[in-house]
Amino acid sequence: MPQAPLPGPSLTLRLFGIPLWFHWSFPGVGLGIAVPSGIVTCFTASNLAVELFAWCLAAVSALALVHEAGHAVVARLLSLEVHALLFTAGGACCIADEAASAGHEVAYSAAGVVSQTVVLVATSLMLLGALPSPELGYGVAVFTAVNLLLILANCWPSGGSDGHRIVCAVDRLLALRQRDAP
Ligand SMILES: [Zn+2]
Repeated sequence: MPQAPLPGPSLTLRLFGIPLWFHWSFPGVGLGIAVPSGIVTCFTASNLAVELFAWCLAAVSALALVHEAGHAVVARLLSLEVHALLFTAGGACCIADEAASAGHEVAYSAAGVVSQTVVLVATSLMLLGALPSPELGYGVAVFTAVNLLLILANCWPSGGSDGHRIVCAVDRLLALRQRDAP
């Protein structure tokens, strides 16, 4: 099994033939959201600060798994080889072959955000229904808010983001369509 291309220890698993590389730093992937949220809450409702910190941390890790799984599933459906999924504190990524066409690139790049959107709809419906306890309701609300923030961040068309790749691929699709127009 290939080793993770990262300094320091990593946990390597294999799922459906795809190596999953969890760098030791991965549990910290949500610290960017969890620390400021926890600190702000300390000054308003300190009993909720630790809970908010923990929910933010758990939400970002879980959503990173959902997002990369979305990329991997669509890559497999498009017959692209998935070389590995990489998880670190700095973020996660799916290492796969290049898409064969602009249309495939749109599908592959959008897959992470689409998976997150499915989870967003599910947790929003849970919030509208009756949850068994207020604590769980609080957790699901935090999870939903974090997911919404991450979806916006992933869609933001800055260099290298999924949003940027989608915009570039759609541009290529439109240019091809214009070229082929009679
Ligand atoms: Zn992505």
